[in-house]
Amino acid sequence: MTYDLVIKNGRILTAAEDFRGDVAVSGEKIAAIGQNLRGTREIDAQELYVIPGAVDGHVHLQMPIAAWMTADSFAQGTIAAACGGVTSMVDFVEPDKGQDLVEALNRRRELADGQVVIDYGLHMTLRDATPAILAQVPAAYAEGCASFKLYTAYPGLYLADDELYRALLAVAGVGGLAVVHAENYPVITEVWQRFAVEGKVAARWHPHSRPTVTEAEAVNRVLSIAHLAGARALIFHLSCSEAARELARAKERGWAAFGETCPQYLSLPDDIYERQDMPATWFICQPPIRGQVQAEALWQALGAGVIDLISTDHCPFSAELKRQGEKNFMQTPGGVSGIETRLALAHTFGVLAGHISLKRWVEVCCTFPAELHGLPGKGHLTPGYDADIVLFDPRRQVTYSADRLHSNITYTPYQGVTVTGVPVTTISRGEVIVENGDYVGCPGRGRFLKRQF
Ligand SMILES: [Zn+2]
Repeated sequence: MTYDLVIKNGRILTAAEDFRGDVAVSGEKIAAIGQNLRGTREIDAQELYVIPGAVDGHVHLQMPIAAWMTADSFAQGTIAAACGGVTSMVDFVEPDKGQDLVEALNRRRELADGQVVIDYGLHMTLRDATPAILAQVPAAYAEGCASFKLYTAYPGLYLADDELYRALLAVAGVGGLAVVHAENYPVITEVWQRFAVEGKVAARWHPHSRPTVTEAEAVNRVLSIAHLAGARALIFHLSCSEAARELARAKERGWAAFGETCPQYLSLPDDIYERQDMPATWFICQPPIRGQVQAEALWQALGAGVIDLISTDHCPFSAELKRQGEKNFMQTPGGVSGIETRLALAHTFGVLAGHISLKRWVEVCCTFPAELHGLPGKGHLTPGYDADIVLFDPRRQVTYSADRLHSNITYTPYQGVTVTGVPVTTISRGEVIVENGDYVGCPGRGRFLKRQF
């Protein structure tokens, strides 16, 4: 039998297996894995890893935040994702205060559908825990928003403990997943006020204004309340060992607790808020980047199965917007880009540095994110699953600069960082959409993924 497409003789890597063989595709699906398969089109992968398409469960494309907007449109951001070996992602619906959740979901889909080039889902943000809003949680779930974002930080998004508990009860009621930004914002606000009085407003003070204890305390509190409410909870962007330890304790107790970290916490050096060659504002994100000792601890937690996955929290702002915060870090739009660089950074700083195995790399970047976020047909190289496949050249070296990447900003936090191993070909539902690092797919070909557990 002749298949539509066969990837020949690659090193097939999944979360569970590692062997040499062929992957055959018929239409949009994986049709067979084996030896000596024949295809109308064949791609030689002798020198390459063949892995499931990466899944990024945490991105912010064209997202309005306060007076700002993130820099990547749905079109541009998903092209960058595809070039980085990402074949599905989960973005957010951020309803206005009091807005009907399904209406907000539909508005968000109107912006994304026909623009995205990879498949996508949406988390639903619960910015207030009023009975009227929480009563709409089942309707949002039925429309495919299976996960709900809860914030313990930021004015307008912050949920106090009683509100958090009510929201978590509602999420548990539909069997959904809570995804949570965990920091103790009231205490951080007090620290800021003290810093303002003391004149500590330059960008380099940013990490000092959010000490690790303000994160760890919130992780413990959120996971405790989630357990009480019977909700499964994923803590977003863990940045330090203190917070990871709270997650480990929750897991030891048998709670349905999960953790995410991001490449900026795993790879960037200690001096990023002090350097002369790059402005500290480029690296302002919440929680802050905490340097090499913490990065080592996070890698250990990933290797030990305490932290479950790597996403990006891709949230780029233009250099002009970042500059506005130069004199005062409290006025800097927080967020870094990363949608295109995660697989390669995790390979270089995780696998090649000896922190995690190749299988674990696939598990934390591709397979487990698909499972935890409930993405149908994604995350596996198994017949019947979507033919979302990445060919990864483990030997090719790239030194990052903004002009090599596809994000709509003129800088990258990974400027000058050299990775060994990059994705070279991305296949989404059987269609080759990236070849030799260039996007070659149709515009707007991505689909909304209705997620349910
Ligand atoms: Zn985020």
